Amino acid sequence: GLGLLDYKLGTFATGVLLQYLYETQKNSLSHLNRITPYVADNYLLIDSATRRNLEIIETLREKQKRGSLLWVLDKTKTAMGARLMRSYLEQPLIQKKEIEARYDAIEELNQNLMVREEIRDLLKNIYDLERLMTKVSYRSANPRDLIAFKTSIASLPELSTQLNQLQSSLFLQFREEFDELRDLFELIDASIVEEPPLTMKEGGIIKEGYKADLDDLKEAKIKGKTWLSDLEEQEREKTGIKTLKIKFNKVFGYYFEVTNSFKSLVPDYFIRKQTLANAERYTTDELTKIANAVLGSEEKLYALEYEVFVAIREELAAQIARVQKTAHVIAKLDVFTSLSYVAEQNQYVRPTINEEGTIHIKEGRHPVVEKMISNSQFITNDTYLDNNENRISIITGPNMAGKSTYMRQSALIVLMAQVGSFVPAKEANIGICDRIFTRVGASDDLASGQSTFMVEMSEVANILRNATKNSLLILDEIGRGTSTFDGLSIAWAVVEYISNDKLLGAKTLFATHYHELTELEGKLCNVNNYCIAVKEQGDDIVFLRKIVKGGADKSYGIQVAKLAGVPDIVIERAKEIALHLTENDIVKKTDDLSEFTLPKETVKVCEPVQLSLFNEKETEVIDKLSSADLSNMTPLQAMMLLNELQVLIRK
Ligand code: ATP
Repeated sequence: GLGLLDYKLGTFATGVLLQYLYETQKNSLSHLNRITPYVADNYLLIDSATRRNLEIIETLREKQKRGSLLWVLDKTKTAMGARLMRSYLEQPLIQKKEIEARYDAIEELNQNLMVREEIRDLLKNIYDLERLMTKVSYRSANPRDLIAFKTSIASLPELSTQLNQLQSSLFLQFREEFDELRDLFELIDASIVEEPPLTMKEGGIIKEGYKADLDDLKEAKIKGKTWLSDLEEQEREKTGIKTLKIKFNKVFGYYFEVTNSFKSLVPDYFIRKQTLANAERYTTDELTKIANAVLGSEEKLYALEYEVFVAIREELAAQIARVQKTAHVIAKLDVFTSLSYVAEQNQYVRPTINEEGTIHIKEGRHPVVEKMISNSQFITNDTYLDNNENRISIITGPNMAGKSTYMRQSALIVLMAQVGSFVPAKEANIGICDRIFTRVGASDDLASGQSTFMVEMSEVANILRNATKNSLLILDEIGRGTSTFDGLSIAWAVVEYISNDKLLGAKTLFATHYHELTELEGKLCNVNNYCIAVKEQGDDIVFLRKIVKGGADKSYGIQVAKLAGVPDIVIERAKEIALHLTENDIVKKTDDLSEFTLPKETVKVCEPVQLSLFNEKETEVIDKLSSADLSNMTPLQAMMLLNELQVLIRK
């Protein structure tokens, strides 16, 4: 009945988890009313490194929301909406129909701005119903929580009217699940006062007219108060003490207070209770009698009020499922109105979804970087990848040119499209991806005992092992953490591996400073070179940020170092060294390298080559490479493997 038939181990795990919660929370778990199996196959898979690198939920360095994709897209009005937005971003979809249903919803909201703004306005007043209901089910909700609940559901009928004006399939579905909860509103409205106290056991919670018993007790209490003020008046006249007052505190109850200057007028029947510096406190038989009556009725009143309050809370607790369902619809409404608002504000477009695997983005923008740059100076760029000749783009260009921005923007646009959001581009046709992987920059993970290069290689290993033909890979600077030769060789081998659709064949954006890799265009049929244009002005460079066909032949690293403020003397010396190296060793060495590391026979040459057509030697090389357990290799072992492959090729 729970839909867990196919999840035998999952059922055990869920059972153990519930048991654990039950034991540790020592509380009812009645608010947990559904178990939904999380089926990874239903969502775009994003591993944790990619999640971090793409800065989906928080930024890489400061771990802050500001600067993340969530920061741009989350303009939700409720806590429930904010949570759902986050989980939407963490779980993009892979079913065309589901994705398009979300586009339809956003489009309809874009066309009905009045309705959208009306909904957003109403959402502002809605507290976190999910959390409030958890409190109700834990029996820890106080009267103020109930008033917050009432205020929240007060706008549901109006929200429902707005919702009824929307026609797209998701909204029709929301309508079915939406409950105006009028009965609950009326229950609280009739019973709980508008501004109840924080404490629950001192009365003042329940409205007059809600319960006859309570009203009677309240009246008795009021009567008692009149008796008290009558007595005060009487005694004042009798004793002639003008300042005589009946006061109350929790320790002594009711008493007469006489200031020292009137002490001589105190009659015999006044019984002293307490002496203060400037006054004395007394009681009388009459006062004790009245006080007992007042306090007795007060006690009863408070106890009964609490009882009534608990009963109301129980009534709510019995309706948790209804409230949660509605809360979920509210969260979804919040997410879609937010996505529509963001789409409109930022001029996003509705993507088209294809199942052929083509990614075609025209005039794409990075959703976060464009927000950080003033005066809309962001330079748009196109992306084109498909499963044929355009599977891999090798992107070269100077430091700071915008390679990383470009690659991330492409990945983020795909991700946003699969979340069901409109995207920052002029046009976008997105082939659904099953996974997105990124390998970006170098970061140490010393805490887990891994060096920079080891982290880099582990990430590469993970990508090569887990990516599929339908994945999108963003590879930024592979092989930078080791010597040039090792790094270049690894990068080269990785591109070959990805490019071969018998081995992997994933769509890939590959940024590199190894300009030697641009030689792969033409040698591998599906690899294309792109570079980011710059203009040289004398000794300096101007970044044009525009991606163009072709490879770059320079990195302009020294110019960027100069821009960054590295002392002139170092810059001048670096130029000298660079000139010297260019004229001598490196060119020669890289020439040599490209000759012997380019295993021409093993590389798939321009039309798709069947693996079975490979000769024995090639197959052996490929087998060795594909079965190598990169994640468990030391850099030295990786070197040795490369060496072994080289020997094989040269045989
Ligand atoms: P490196 O090789 O040093 O890693 P890079 O080529 O990857 O550099 P990015 O980090 O992508 O360069 O970009 C550097 C900066 O340039 C960004 O922080 C951003 O401010 C700016 N930038 C990048 N792309 C664009 C663009 N299309 N329009 C405007 N500014 C951009």
